[in-house]
Amino acid sequence: MDMDSLVIHGDAGVEDDSAIAPALYLSSTYRARDACEFAAIATGTRPRRYYARYGNPTQARCEQVLARLENAEAALLFASGMGAVSTAVLALLKSGDHVVAQTSHYMGTTRLLSEILPRFGIQATRVDQTDSGAFERALRPQTRLVLVETPSNPTLAVTDLAAVAARARARGILTLADNTFASPVNQRPRDFGIDLVVHSATKYLGGHSDLVAGVVAGPKDLVDRIWEDSIVFGACASPFNAWLMLRGLRTLTLRVERQSATALELARHLERHPQIARVHYPGLESHPQHELARRQMKGYGGVLSFEVKGGYEAARRFVCALKLAANAVSLGGVESLAVHAASVWEGTLTPQQIEQAGVSPALVRFSVGLESAQDLAADLDQALAAAA
Ligand SMILES: *Cc1c(COP(=O)(O)O)cnc(C)c1O
Repeated sequence: MDMDSLVIHGDAGVEDDSAIAPALYLSSTYRARDACEFAAIATGTRPRRYYARYGNPTQARCEQVLARLENAEAALLFASGMGAVSTAVLALLKSGDHVVAQTSHYMGTTRLLSEILPRFGIQATRVDQTDSGAFERALRPQTRLVLVETPSNPTLAVTDLAAVAARARARGILTLADNTFASPVNQRPRDFGIDLVVHSATKYLGGHSDLVAGVVAGPKDLVDRIWEDSIVFGACASPFNAWLMLRGLRTLTLRVERQSATALELARHLERHPQIARVHYPGLESHPQHELARRQMKGYGGVLSFEVKGGYEAARRFVCALKLAANAVSLGGVESLAVHAASVWEGTLTPQQIEQAGVSPALVRFSVGLESAQDLAADLDQALAAAA
């Protein structure tokens, strides 16, 4: 099936039910028919109807759509994207293991790598994602996992999925890709040899800024292994959020295709604007990795970032002057959101750390919603005029 049909019919047959819309099972526990049903749990089989931390029928339905969208055997929902990333990483590694990751990751993932894993005797080496040879040079005999994120936050740098996956696989090392920014509509890491895919489903998969959730998708044996630890860590998805996500998924392809088209239009518009110093968007011919992005992405996503002339103060004024786009973190919803990266990170990172992450004090990240491209361009223009 095409992705357009998968988002509608990917859960067919999961629940034997004649209702067209998915049922929402809120029950925290389920009646067993006999002792055999409980015995199955002890053998590590993922149950749909037992106790809601172990699984849930609505969640299972959503997981089947997500697995198929990511070309994976199985998927597992979590309470948040960070619940998915942390549980997967902790389930796959043990003390003494080594991870290769990128210098640029989502903030929560960066803290997991630099602060939390070392407490459990797991070391991480972080490399420049734009140099695919750097991943290989960082490998050690103890390396068990290579973690990538592409395009990455907030400068939309791209990682060569096929190159990284091939080098890791040749040595029997697992690979895990955070595919939040691209969404499966634009990029399917497993098609390039990546083992596991994670998402913050809070973003495009949910798509309406009304749920927090995460997902891991990949081979059944690995997802089952992660599930076994997940029932102890307890970052389980809520049934209501799984239901909301199923509703959001029905329009995923429509939303992401439109958001990607509008983002490209706005990126081109800003690139020509005299008050803009630089635009970061992998769909632009001027992006240093545009050729690579073209090879592994269908569209380039709904997030772009740009540097406003006039530095920190001009960028701060610009974000405050936007009228259609809200000044808010997160991304992937139907409404446009903009953040001044340096203002958000000031609390947690030093100016040097911000600079190391390649973030200019004038950088604005813009998540394109489903408003018209014309209205959004007009909003950007009036805010730039106000910031001048
Ligand atoms: C938001 C985000 C996360 C974390 O997801 P939550 O749902 O907020 O826990 C992880 N990775 C990326 C790329 C994100 O954008």
